[in-house]
Amino acid sequence: MGSNTVTNKQTEVQRIVDALSKAIAQHRLRPGTRLIEAQIVDALKANRNHVQSALQRLALQRIVTIEPNRGALVSQPTAKEARDVFAARRAIEAAIVESITPDAMRQNRQRIANHMRNERKATSASDRRDIVRELSEFHLMLGEICGNAVLAEILGNLMVRSSLIVALYQRNDHPACASDEHEQIITALEHGDHRVAIKVMLEHLDELEAQLALEELAEPEVDLKQILGDL
Ligand SMILES: [Zn+2]
Repeated sequence: MGSNTVTNKQTEVQRIVDALSKAIAQHRLRPGTRLIEAQIVDALKANRNHVQSALQRLALQRIVTIEPNRGALVSQPTAKEARDVFAARRAIEAAIVESITPDAMRQNRQRIANHMRNERKATSASDRRDIVRELSEFHLMLGEICGNAVLAEILGNLMVRSSLIVALYQRNDHPACASDEHEQIITALEHGDHRVAIKVMLEHLDELEAQLALEELAEPEVDLKQILGDL
């Protein structure tokens, strides 16, 4: 196989990974949905080997679960995993906010302004998918602006997993993020006030986690001896 073929394969697998990640992040594919290879092949006009590689890559990222004999399905993170993802987001997003300079904010002024306008437009209308997309886009945008590709890549994975978590555990039907907290983070970063930006970001993530019903389903404590003895 020539190196060109390898590159083409990588690009094609990434295209499928991106399409599935996006559909999952936007709640078009919900946790537990079966991912049937033949359907993905048809829908994305892709080849079966590439689809299989894409599903394996998503499984390594914990976005997809591959079950022996049952095939692939969209992952259903446990409450423990949900808490771990939020703990990781606090660490990663604090580091992202920390590394955004006022200069980077100036260079990205137009992009940020466009995003904030779209976000306000989405939250004032009520298409839930638009809202979910715009609100998570804010966090991804900060990851890109910070200029650290590793932080951005880790965040990309955490954001897709967060979407799964919100789809499974959100208490109410209101969108997770509050847009005014986003505005406060932007304002603080424009002034180079990292202390405030980090503080608002951490409070914001705490708030998002608090909206989830993450009570572990306790194993019922039964006294088998007593129950069976009473029969
Ligand atoms: Zn947010």
